[in-house]
Amino acid sequence: MPLTQRLNMFANNPLDRAGHLRTDEDWLAAQIATQEALFVPLWRGDALILPEAAAGQGRDVAWLPKAAISAYLDNDVIFLGLNKNNAPRFGVDISPLEAPEQTAPFDALCRAGGVFENLRALAMVGDMPPTELAILAQAKGLLEWHASHGFCSKCGAQSVIAEGGYKRSCPACGADHFPRTDPVVIMLPYLGDKCLLGRQAGWPETLFSALAGFMEPGETIEEAVARETMEEAGVAITSVHYHSTQPWPFPSSLMIGCLAEAENDKMSVDEKELAEARWFSVAEIKDAFNGTAGFDIPPSLAIAHHLIKAFVEMKG
Ligand SMILES: [Zn+2]
Repeated sequence: MPLTQRLNMFANNPLDRAGHLRTDEDWLAAQIATQEALFVPLWRGDALILPEAAAGQGRDVAWLPKAAISAYLDNDVIFLGLNKNNAPRFGVDISPLEAPEQTAPFDALCRAGGVFENLRALAMVGDMPPTELAILAQAKGLLEWHASHGFCSKCGAQSVIAEGGYKRSCPACGADHFPRTDPVVIMLPYLGDKCLLGRQAGWPETLFSALAGFMEPGETIEEAVARETMEEAGVAITSVHYHSTQPWPFPSSLMIGCLAEAENDKMSVDEKELAEARWFSVAEIKDAFNGTAGFDIPPSLAIAHHLIKAFVEMKG
């Protein structure tokens, strides 16, 4: 039975990553060579997106055949996976180009309405299938890791891409290095029919969201939730309930969404972390979903939106 589909943006990646096959260099080379292979170019994290073929159809990822992108196959090329027809999909980093929209073969596609677009902006616009955005999140996260990890952290020599992009190997000392995913806890503290939302400095005055912070070594998810909530808002947590996770490739996080029961409503905001934190009633949150509250909650591309929604559903 397939996994339950989640509402979180960048979740539900449909590709089979074929982890047991991509370690075989001959198999990978055959996948790149096959006629069914398609490649998406990414320039400094932004994927090439094609305009709608017809009004109302939505836009498409620029999946290009090997012949179109062959000049760039010496760049970083990563194996994304096999689609449901066993056709391989790859990501290609074209970041070394100064102006890709003026460089073949991308120039013609851009003149026809193609654009290199930021993934967060794409998710906001919402005119592409979410499953395609999940694939782009995978491509962006992995290619950006390679772009910033060209040298062995053990001996300093230049390392090389291996296993379709899921490893870098150091030819000098033999060390292997694996792509990073940085776990971040994001939590909605609640007490009775109230939940706690915070606003970071620099956000719009009316925007409130869940609290969040990076996990630290030697820490459980529950401990990180309690620590971050105490550090940021001075609120003590007595129990933590996992909700869902979200890949967040800005640049390489995994958001671990939780609801967290507070001991009481005492609060002491760390002004270095938050401009403001407030307890909101279920009624106020419902108004926010209807746009009548006088404050805003994050859009549905953010896992915080779904945590807040889960709180409302829990409280009826
Ligand atoms: Zn090394």
